[in-house]
Parts: sequence; C-alpha cells; structure tokens
Amino acid sequence: MKVILAEKPSVARDIAKIVGANQRNDGYLSGNDYAVTYAFGHLIELANIKKYQEHLSLDNLPVIPEKIDLELASDQGKRKQFAVIKKLFKEADEIINATDAGREGELIFRYIYLMAKVRVPFKRLWISSMTDEAIKKGFATLKNGLEYNNLYYSAKARAEADWLVGLNGSIALTRSANTGRTLSVGRVQSPTVALIVNRYLENKNFVPEDYFTIFTILKSHDQNFKAIVEGKFSKKEEAEKTLEKISDKALVKDIEKKETRTATPLPFDLTSLQAEANKKHGYSAQETLQFAQNLYERHKIITYPRTDSRYLSKDMINDIYQTFETLKSYQLKSYAQHLEVILERKNKRPINDKKVTDHHAIIPTGKNPQGLAEGERNIYKLVLFQFCKAFHKPVLKDSTKVVLDSNEVELIARGNILKDIGFKIFDGKKLDEEDEDTLLPPLEKDEITDVISKEIEAKKTKPLPILTEASLLKLMETAGKLLDDEDSELAEAMKEKGIGTPATRAGIIETIIRRGYIKREKKKLIPSDLGIEFVKNLEGFAILSPKLTGDWEHKLKQIEKGELEYKTFNDQIKAYTHQVTDQMKNSGKGFTQFVDPNLQDCPVCGKGKLKHSPKSVFCTNNKYSNGDCNFYLPKTIAKKKLTDNQIQELLTKGETGFLKGFVAKSGNKFEAALKINKEKAKVDMIFRPREEAKNN
Ligand SMILES: [Zn+2]
Repeated sequence: MKVILAEKPSVARDIAKIVGANQRNDGYLSGNDYAVTYAFGHLIELANIKKYQEHLSLDNLPVIPEKIDLELASDQGKRKQFAVIKKLFKEADEIINATDAGREGELIFRYIYLMAKVRVPFKRLWISSMTDEAIKKGFATLKNGLEYNNLYYSAKARAEADWLVGLNGSIALTRSANTGRTLSVGRVQSPTVALIVNRYLENKNFVPEDYFTIFTILKSHDQNFKAIVEGKFSKKEEAEKTLEKISDKALVKDIEKKETRTATPLPFDLTSLQAEANKKHGYSAQETLQFAQNLYERHKIITYPRTDSRYLSKDMINDIYQTFETLKSYQLKSYAQHLEVILERKNKRPINDKKVTDHHAIIPTGKNPQGLAEGERNIYKLVLFQFCKAFHKPVLKDSTKVVLDSNEVELIARGNILKDIGFKIFDGKKLDEEDEDTLLPPLEKDEITDVISKEIEAKKTKPLPILTEASLLKLMETAGKLLDDEDSELAEAMKEKGIGTPATRAGIIETIIRRGYIKREKKKLIPSDLGIEFVKNLEGFAILSPKLTGDWEHKLKQIEKGELEYKTFNDQIKAYTHQVTDQMKNSGKGFTQFVDPNLQDCPVCGKGKLKHSPKSVFCTNNKYSNGDCNFYLPKTIAKKKLTDNQIQELLTKGETGFLKGFVAKSGNKFEAALKINKEKAKVDMIFRPREEAKNN
C-alpha cells in the first residue's frame, strides 16, 4: 500500500479523488492500494524550553540545548491524527509526501516522518497548481524524497533559530523589564517593529522646509503652454532674483522628441499581490493570503500563491497560451480583441527560467471561477488582469522636451501624446493623470515666444508617509532599503535577503499586532506606546537590524541550495543567541510599567491600579515603580485557590463572605472571610465566632 500525506484534509480529498481512494475512514481515505491521510498543519513541534531548564531565571539564560527534541502537539485532535498517520506509515510500502510545496510544508512532513520512526522510503509530490491535470502530472513525475533534503535542513534551521533567539530573547527581556507583561523578541518580528516605529517617528518629528519653484506661461501660434525653471530654490530671494531676470520673450533653443515606453508589468508573486490588494481594496496581507489560498486550493483557479518568483518558465509556454485561448472564449470574452494581441505578440518578458526556483509567478489556471466570495473575486481579478497585462504591450508615448532661453534663464516645456495605451487597457476606461495628453504648440528651433506670465510657487518638503501594509511589505522585501520603482533589478537581487519570506510576512504582521507593538488604523500601521518604547530601549542592537535578518534569510536560502551547511548556520545562531540574550538581560530597565487604563483602582492607596499576574494581584504604585503602596493579594491563600468572583468581591466591596476550603498547617480545613486591611495594605482573615461556627 502507498500512503500519501497531505497538509490538510481538503487537499487530501482532492488527491484521493485522483488516485481513486474513495473509501472514507477515520482520519484517512483509502482504495486502489492507496491510503491518503493528512495533517492539521504542524502536528509535531520543537520541545518546550522548560524541558531543558525548569527555572527560567535571568541567571539560567540562554538555554541552548545541544539538540532540540521534537514533541507531539498538545492538542488532542492533533495527537489522535498523528496516531492514525503513524499506523499507516508502519504498514506502508511507499510513502508520498504531498504537503505544501515549500519550506514549511517540507518541515511538517519531515517532523511527522521522524516522530513516527519509520524506515520506508518516501517520494515527493511537488506541484504548483491544484487542478486535476496538475495533480495527475505531479503523480506521473514523483520525485525522490531525498532530493528535498536541503529544503528540509533550511526549514529545520529556520525553526530552531526562531526557537533559540525568540524564546531566550523574549524571556530575558520580559524578566529584566518586569513590567507585568510579556515582551516578545524575534529574529524576524523585531526588525519589522523597528521599521514601523522608525518611520512613524520620522514622520511625526519631521520639520518641513520651505522651498520655491518657478513656472511661466508662454505663448506661440496663439496657444499658451507651461514652462518651468527646473529645480528647487531653498531661499525665496534666489527665486525672486531668477524670476526678475526672465524677460517677456523666450527663445526656443532645442527640441527633443522621443518615444517613451512603459514596459509591461510582471505577473504577481505573493508579496506584490498583497501590496496591490492592500492599496486597491485595503486587505491585510493575511486576508489576501487566505483569499489566494482558497483560490488555489478550493477553487483551483490560480496557481500556488506562496511564491517569491514573478516569472514563468519556458516549459509553461504552451499551457500559458492555452489559458489565454480559454480566457478569450469564456471569462474574458469582452476583452477578446486584446487577448488576440497577446496571442499574436508572444511577449517573452515574463519568461525566465533562471528566475523560477521552486515556484513560478501566480497566474490563473484557466479554470472557470464559480461561487467566489467577494474577497476571493477581488483577488482573482487582480491575478487575472495582471497576467493579461504581463503578456500584452508596453504603453507608448511621444514625448517632447523643449528647452528655451529667456535672458539666460533656462525654461523647460514638456509635451506628451499617448500613442498606444498598451497593457493599461486592462485597467478599464479611466486613464491615469500621467497618461493624459499634454499638448505643445508646433514649436520650431530659434523661434521666439512670448512670456505671458511668470510666478513663484512656495512649497514645503514632505515627510515619508507612515507605513501601510503595502509599503511595509515592499520594505520587508528589500530588508528596509528604500528603492525607487526604477530599481527593479536591484529589488530582484535583494529578494533573497528580505525580512521573512513571502509565505511568512502576513503572519509576522499579525504577530506584532497581537503582541501589542503595532495597531492598524485604517490602512496605516501605527506603533503603540509599547512599540515605541521597545525600539527606543533596544536601539543599536542587532535584533532590530533589518539587514542582519536579511542576511540570516539569505543563509537559509543558501542551505536550501546546498551552498551552506546546516551546522555552520546553527553554530552561528547559537553564538548570536548568547549575544541577544545578554543584551536583553541588560535592556529591561528603561521600560515603564505597563498600566492598562481599564484596570481597577487600588483599594488601599487609591493612586495605583491593580494588576493581575497568574499568581497574584498587586498595586502598580509599588516600590518597583518608586511608589509607596505595598498592597498585594496572593490568589492562593492557605492552599485555597480563590475564584475570579471571590477576588472581585474582595476588591470591590473590601471583603468577602465566609469561604470554605482553607487548609491550616495542621491539615485541618477551615472557613474564613477575607477583608482588606487598608492600614497594613494586606488581606486579613476573619474567623467565625466559635458559637456560630458550631451551628454551621
Ligand atoms: Zn495601592
């Protein structure tokens, strides 16, 4: 029997259908000598840090085990499913790894395989599309599982690095800051927080500067046109001096005509799709990923979305044109004439074998969409039209630049005529402002034109805008380096050195929001006070450096390509863990106590707020924050664990009724009421008078 492991049940069902495993069983499908089973994401995890160090005090950190063990997830459903998989693996003649074709998918399978302790060889199903044809093709060309060892080592290195750096760093900082809340630190999340905070502060603290520009209106052949003095003047007097010089005539010195072209865009990879969807529809990176995953897995109308390539490979050409044929007859009938252009033109720009690694760009499969939810439909349309644009024509313009001279002041006039709207036909009717024609009169060299008016415009410099998810994603891709759109070559080269991977970026953004460092305000990403404090306190440390994270990411890529040993990376990460942990141990002092405004006032001093830790309630106006209140309520008193209701009663009324279940040192159970003693800032026990106690 051949056993196939998919990453989740829905995918297992699709595969089962193809291999003819039609019988449903508990945790798997079977038939035709196949068993198709599934994981629910990660069933096996790296061991809890407490396995290696029971007391995680500052002195005991960092915890760096020689080797981090694997353990079963604590979730009962996952444990049960693992038992099903293990049993099937033991009975198998051959195992087929059909998890997601990427780093995380590989890790999910390998951990299960290792934990099941089987020796059966395994094969790898590696597909980029979930259509029936693609799955069939994948099964016809199964790979030897061991070919993906480097991918596994890279995945393992990533997981262990996050464990070592993240756990040690977070515990060290949380303990040293002692603010009553967890301060999470991570190899990838912390530089992302820094990017958002730094941009926010830069924007808020920006001091605008005045500058001045000059423009004139000229006239030739009874037609007015605009000409400018190029550049900015920082001083008004200088601008005035130049303006003064401009006379009432200007001589045409030079006319330069050329055709300018805007090249066709590339099909999307995940990050560019997420950025575009955030701009157009305001979707978070996580939402876009989810919609795209549905389109891939459930609807099967786009290819594998977790890709970092914006190119397609040569061997796909026939399929691609087949897809355009299909689109022409069904989904994009109204665009038929433009698809005809695509089919004739055979644009090669998106085809580049060298830039397709594990996966190619995201494109439609040609399959007809049915029953899409609104978000799915919006994302599908983005993918569909980007695919068409990529294979269509560039935008062509006739551009004219006229250089004029007015009393030795150079004036520049520009004209544009849109010759061919090219791929922008897929943007719908509305033209961008920049695509509107700007007409110049028919000027000739040495012609003298009239200067009708001249003017100074006062302007102010503007700060870089606060980051949105779209702009953050771009920055993560280039590890914090701001690049112009023209720098696409450089951006491409930096792709392997970004913060996180396309598949993980959405998750990183969600994590830093959940941990309280960042908030969403409409499309903007705004740091919380904690986020700002975090970055200020850790300033200068490598953990905030996008470049360092980018370098680690690059090394993971090298492991994947077989250019770097797992062990080398792991040793470097261990050394780095020592460094990070030491820095975090010494950085806690600068953090202010976290006080949630929703907290209750302290019943003893009235100045502080009450904070709850798992074991106690205490006043924030305590000696650790230079206060003078010592109020402290342990949640367990005389071996009785107080319920939330009992604690609330005590805190709001100042006392409770008689409670049962206290245990004296002698072992005898007793009853008592609790009462806050304001003078001594503690909780007293009130016992029943003897008589009453007897009657009860
Ligand atoms: Zn107090």
